[in-house]
Amino acid sequence: MAGSATQRLWCSRAAKADLFIRGARVIDPVSGRDEVLDVLVAKGKIGAVGAGLEAPEGIHVREADGCLLIPGLVDLHAHLREPGGEEAEEIATGTAAAAAGGYVAVFAMANTDPVIDNAGLLEGLAQRARSEAVVPLGFHAAVTVGQKGERLTEMVELSEYGVAAFSDDGVPLPDANTLRRALQYASVTGRHIAVHAEDRSLTRGGVMHEGAVSARLGLGGMPSIAESMEVERALEVAAYEDARLHLCHISTAASLEHLARAKAAGVPVTAEACPHHLVLGDEAVVTLDPNLKMNPPLRSEADRKALVEAVADGIVDCVATDHAPHCPDDKEVPFEEAPFGVTGLETALTVLYDSLVREGRLGMSTLVERMSTAPAAIAGIPAPSIAEGADADLCLFDPDHTWTLDQKTVRSRSWNSPWWGAELRGRPVLTVAAGRIVWDPGA
Ligand SMILES: [Zn+2]
Ligand SMILES: [Zn+2]
Repeated sequence: MAGSATQRLWCSRAAKADLFIRGARVIDPVSGRDEVLDVLVAKGKIGAVGAGLEAPEGIHVREADGCLLIPGLVDLHAHLREPGGEEAEEIATGTAAAAAGGYVAVFAMANTDPVIDNAGLLEGLAQRARSEAVVPLGFHAAVTVGQKGERLTEMVELSEYGVAAFSDDGVPLPDANTLRRALQYASVTGRHIAVHAEDRSLTRGGVMHEGAVSARLGLGGMPSIAESMEVERALEVAAYEDARLHLCHISTAASLEHLARAKAAGVPVTAEACPHHLVLGDEAVVTLDPNLKMNPPLRSEADRKALVEAVADGIVDCVATDHAPHCPDDKEVPFEEAPFGVTGLETALTVLYDSLVREGRLGMSTLVERMSTAPAAIAGIPAPSIAEGADADLCLFDPDHTWTLDQKTVRSRSWNSPWWGAELRGRPVLTVAAGRIVWDPGA
């Protein structure tokens, strides 16, 4: 069904870029390109793409030998903590982290304080984004007022204001009837409902995935079925209503089986997986590093492998970070007491390239499709593409650049990352978003 208004993004307005990128390997799933080319960016648009192009006189030339030039990434799932959690993150720092990670569009979740559940609050945030957002920022609005699971928000009015979708992420919806009514109203607006699938009666007291590792460590477990049962139920409701459902942070093999079956049956469902679930398993938790604690938790190795396969074959449509900053005071506590959530915007492409593409498990073009083209389509915005005439939304990635996410390099206000302090290989070295240079650490 057609939407009642388009999905909107807001950002601050720096000068449009003029730039000549020479000799990068251009990988663009939209145009199907994968070859070494030169790219001219003129007044913020892709002016020319070709081999052996002449750089216009006086333009800044970027030598990009050995680098990959890809459409900029789109994140459907980030917690930017504004309003109410500015000690952990705000629009300015969260979107700066996104720029450093190669992202050209980010969609913030609504579980802020207060919750983003009305047009007045959204209007204030859009205003903030217009002055503070480094990359274009869109918003989710809550499904229920205050995320209390009772009254639905004014979805038509919120859509008219440009929200991308509706989600109570952070908490699960309380019952099937709330999801059913939400799907009915959201479908009128052309938006989807993004669901955090978790049966809290099964996860209460849990701090990590329930399995051999939790038993060994003596930690409370969060069983796989707490997710997969809710996934199955949400899929049944979406099938019954024939309405668009999006599954956040899918992490278990059983969830993937339900998802594959629903897709085969034509249910209008999309799903995302997070970098940490694709790269790490619950064995990593033996260090008791609180930066490995998130919800859903790191799963078994079998789950992780199934997830990688599902991203490769498209059963999982896209990668989303679930970037969830927490200020250091909250995270520098014993594992059991730490809050759930890890940051991800600055490391997503790096760790996925390193563990999936470099290891031959996933083609780079497929990874870019899952991190850029697919999430753009789900959000209802044009897909970034390195094609003449398009807005310059691109990321130059140096696969051999080694770096460390630390106090010197971090752009997020928080550093609760599984990769904090680790030496990483591969890094975005230039990001152009909406025609503006938003990340250029070498400049
Ligand atoms: Zn969630
Ligand atoms: Zn989340």
